[in-house]
Amino acid sequence: MQTRRQFDHTEIEHRWQEAWDDADVFHIPDEATDPTYVLGMFPYTSGQLHMGHVRNYTITDAYARYKRMDGENVLHPMGWDSFGLPAENAAIERDTNPRDWTLSCIDTMREQMEGMGFGYDWEREITTCQPDYYRWNQWLFTRFREEGLVEREAAEINWCPSCETVLADEQVEGDAELCWRCDTPVEQRELDQWFLKITEYADELLDDLDDLDGWPSNVRQMQRNWIGRQHGATVEFEVSEAATSETSSGKQGEPRDYGPVEVFTTRLDTIFGVTFFALAPGHPIAEELAAEDDDIAHFVEEVADPEGDEPQGVPTDLTATNPATGEEIPVFVADFVLSDVGTGALMGVPGHDSRDHAFATSMDVDIVPVVAPSEDDVPDVSEAAYTEDGALVNSDDYDGLDSDEARERLEGDIESAAHDVQYRLRDWGISRQRYWGTPIPIIHCEECGPVSVPDEDLPVELPEFVRTTGNPLDAADEWKHVNCPECGADARRETDTMDTFMDSSWYFLRYVSPHLDDAPFDTERADDWMPVDRYVGGIEHAVMHLLYSRFVTKSLSDMKLLDHREPFTNLVTQGMVLLDGDKMSKSKGNVVSPQRIVEEYGADTARLFTMQAAQPEKDFDWTEEGVKSSYEFLQRLAGAVESFAESTFDGDHDEIAEYVEREIDATVAIANDEFESLTFNGALRETQELTSLLARYREETSPHGPTLERGLRTVVKLLAPVTPHICEELWSDLGGEGFVVEAEWPEPESDPAELELARQLVENTQEDVRHIISVADIDDPERIDIVVAAPWQFKALDLARESDADNVIGELMQEDEIRKQGDAAAKYGQELQQERQSLPETLSPEREQVALRRATWLFQREFDADVRLLTAEEADGDVASKARPGRPAIHID
Ligand SMILES: [Zn+2]
Ligand SMILES: [Zn+2]
Repeated sequence: MQTRRQFDHTEIEHRWQEAWDDADVFHIPDEATDPTYVLGMFPYTSGQLHMGHVRNYTITDAYARYKRMDGENVLHPMGWDSFGLPAENAAIERDTNPRDWTLSCIDTMREQMEGMGFGYDWEREITTCQPDYYRWNQWLFTRFREEGLVEREAAEINWCPSCETVLADEQVEGDAELCWRCDTPVEQRELDQWFLKITEYADELLDDLDDLDGWPSNVRQMQRNWIGRQHGATVEFEVSEAATSETSSGKQGEPRDYGPVEVFTTRLDTIFGVTFFALAPGHPIAEELAAEDDDIAHFVEEVADPEGDEPQGVPTDLTATNPATGEEIPVFVADFVLSDVGTGALMGVPGHDSRDHAFATSMDVDIVPVVAPSEDDVPDVSEAAYTEDGALVNSDDYDGLDSDEARERLEGDIESAAHDVQYRLRDWGISRQRYWGTPIPIIHCEECGPVSVPDEDLPVELPEFVRTTGNPLDAADEWKHVNCPECGADARRETDTMDTFMDSSWYFLRYVSPHLDDAPFDTERADDWMPVDRYVGGIEHAVMHLLYSRFVTKSLSDMKLLDHREPFTNLVTQGMVLLDGDKMSKSKGNVVSPQRIVEEYGADTARLFTMQAAQPEKDFDWTEEGVKSSYEFLQRLAGAVESFAESTFDGDHDEIAEYVEREIDATVAIANDEFESLTFNGALRETQELTSLLARYREETSPHGPTLERGLRTVVKLLAPVTPHICEELWSDLGGEGFVVEAEWPEPESDPAELELARQLVENTQEDVRHIISVADIDDPERIDIVVAAPWQFKALDLARESDADNVIGELMQEDEIRKQGDAAAKYGQELQQERQSLPETLSPEREQVALRRATWLFQREFDADVRLLTAEEADGDVASKARPGRPAIHID
C-alpha cells in the first residue's frame, strides 16, 4: 500500500475538535430518556494529565463513542475532584492560595483533555471546590444529621504530624501505619470528630455485593474484607484482684472486684482452652490500673505498640474466672488487644490462636489443646497453635462434639454468652482540620450545643486563605464568630472541613442536573438516568470511594431522594501503564508525558496505542516502538483511503468480493462483542486484519469498487471510537455523510455464528495445506484439490450431535442414506461414537462449499498453485474418504 504524504495530525485534530464543539455533538439534553451513563472517575486536580488518566478516559471515551454510534443516548460527563490537602500544600509552596492554584490546574487539564479528543458534555462540568457544588455537601450533611446518621464523638484519631491533619483509617497505609500522602508514621490523638454512621449500613453494604455481578470479584472481596463481618459470641469473665496478692493500693481487706468483663470471640468452642485474659491499654480497667501501678503505666505509655510484630504485655494482680471451667486465670494488659475493636478485652486461647500462642510463650502461660482434627488425634500445640475447627477434647461434657455444634451448645449453656456479630468497618470520620475542603455546616452555641446552619444560609463559604501553622479557619476570626441560629447568642462556626471523599461520594448524581439550585440533583431524572452503566477507574478506589458512594446512595434512597440503592452497575478497574516494568512516577523520574506523545504522534496514536496494548484491567508496558507502530498503521490506513478516493475500480462482484464481504461482516460481528465488553484490543486486532485483507484485495485482484469502499468505510467506523480525529478525516475523504462520530455503527449482513464457522473452516484448511506441504516437503505445488465431505457425513454428524442414545451407530444405521454407505458409514459412526463429547458444529455441505470457493483466491496466491474445489463424488475415492465435515480432504500434486 502506498504511503501518502504524512498527514498533519495537529492540524487535523484541532480542526475536528472544533467541529465537534461547534456542532455540540457530545451534549445530552435534559429531556433525553434512559441514556447509557458512561463515567470515568473524575481526576484530582494535580496540574497535568498523566498516562493513567489518558488510559482511563480513553476507555470511557471509546465506549461512549461506540454507544453513541450504536444509537444510544449517552451521558459522558467530566468534572474535578478539587478539594484536598495536596492543593493546599502546592499553594503554600508556590506562595499562592489553593483556589487560584486549583483553578489554574483545572484550566490546564481541561485543555489537555480537549486535546486528547475526549468527547465530554462540558455543559455538565462540575467542580467540587466551587460553592455551587459544595453547598450540597453541606445540605447533605444536614440531611444525614436529621436522619441520625451523624455523630460527634471524642475519638482516638489518626494524626499525621507532618500534614497536621486527621486521617481516616483508610488513609493510614500498611503495617507501618504511614500517612497515605506523605509516608510519615501516623500518631494517635484524641479529638472531637464528626462521623457518618456507615456502620448502620454494614450488613446491606456487605450482602448487596453478591448481586453486583458487573463488578470485578477482587473489588467485591476487598469490600467484604474491609467490612469484615464476623459471627461469634460475647461472653463475660468475672475479673477481680487475686485473693492472695497484696492490693496495689496497699489497703487491707477484701480483694477488689471489677465485675464481669465482656469479650467477643468467634471461637467459643475453645473456651476450655482459655488460659489467660487480656485488656487493651485503653480499656477502663487498664487505665485504672495504670493510674496506680508504675509498671503498667510504663507499659501503656512507653512500650505498647499495637503495630509491632510481637505481641507484648504486662502482668497485673488481677485474675479472671473462666465461665466454662470456673478456673482463675491471669490477666494482662496487652498491646495486641485494640480498644476500638470488639470490646477491648480478649480471652486468650494459645492452643488455637497463633498470636495468643506467641504471647503465652513469651509470658510463660499454659497452652492446652481443646480442639483436635479428631478425638483420638490430639495435636501437639506446644510449638504452634492448631487453628482449624475440629472435634473437642479436654472439654468435659463437650468432648467429641464438632466445633460448630460446640459453639451452638456453649452459647446456650453459658449464662452470660450471647450470639453476636461484629464488624471491622468503623464509622466514617469526616472531620479534617485543614482549610481546603467543605466547611462543616455547624455553629457551636454554649446554650444550644452544635446547631445546624439553616438551609437558607447555605453555602457556608470558605473565608479567604491565610497562611498559618494550624488551620486557617481557626485564624479567620470574623468568619468564625456568628450568632446562634436558634437563640441568637454569640457562637462560633465549626472550623473542621469535610473529608474530600464526601465530595466524590455523590458527584455522579450532580452530573444529572449540574445547574439545579434548589437541590443537589433532580430526583426524577436521577431515577431515569442512574445508575451509572459503566464506571471506570483505578483499583486504589476499591474500598474508600466505592464503599462511601454505595453508602451515600443507599442512605439517599432511604431518604426517598433516589429509588435505586447501588450507584454503579458495571465497574472496570483499569491496570497501570508501566515504564520498563515499573509504575510511572514523577518522583522516580520515569514518566512519559502525554503532552509529548500528542505533539509528536498525535492524540489518535496515543489513544490507539493504549487501547491496543492490553485489555483494560491489565497492566502494560509503554514502548516507543509500540507507539510508532500504531502511528504507522494510521498513516497506512490514510494512504489506503486516499488512493482509493483517487482511483476507479471496475472489478466484478465475484466470489472473491463475496469472500471480502463476509470478512467485513465477521470483523463487524467480533468488534461488536469486543466493544461491548470493553476488550478494545481484540476489536482493534480484527480491524487491522481487515485493513490488510483489503490491501491484498486491492493489490492482488481486480477489486469490486463498492465492496472495497464498504470495507474501508467499515474500518473507519470501527476505529472511530478509538482514533476519532483521523477517522473523521477519512470518513469525509470517503464521502461519508455528516460526522463519523454520529454515523451508524455497522451491523453484519449475515449470521455471526455462520461467519465464525466459515472463518474457522478456511483457517483450518489453510493450516492443513501448509502442514502437508511442509511434511511432504513439496517444493512447488502445481495443484491443490480441496474435497468437501459427502452430504451423508454432515447428516451423520448432526444426528450424532443431537442424539442422547448410548449407541450412536445404531441410531445412524436407521437412516437409509447412511446405512447404504456400508463400511464407510460404520467407520465414521465409530469415530463419532468415540468423539461424542466434542463433536464440532459445522456449516451445511452447501455453505461449506461456498465458503471455501470464496477463499480459493487466497490459496492460489499463498501457494502459487491451481486450486480445485471438489465434492466427494467428484474426487478420487481414496482422497474423498478422508474428508470430514468442517475438515475437507486435501490432495496436492
Ligand atoms: Zn502526612
Ligand atoms: Zn444558641
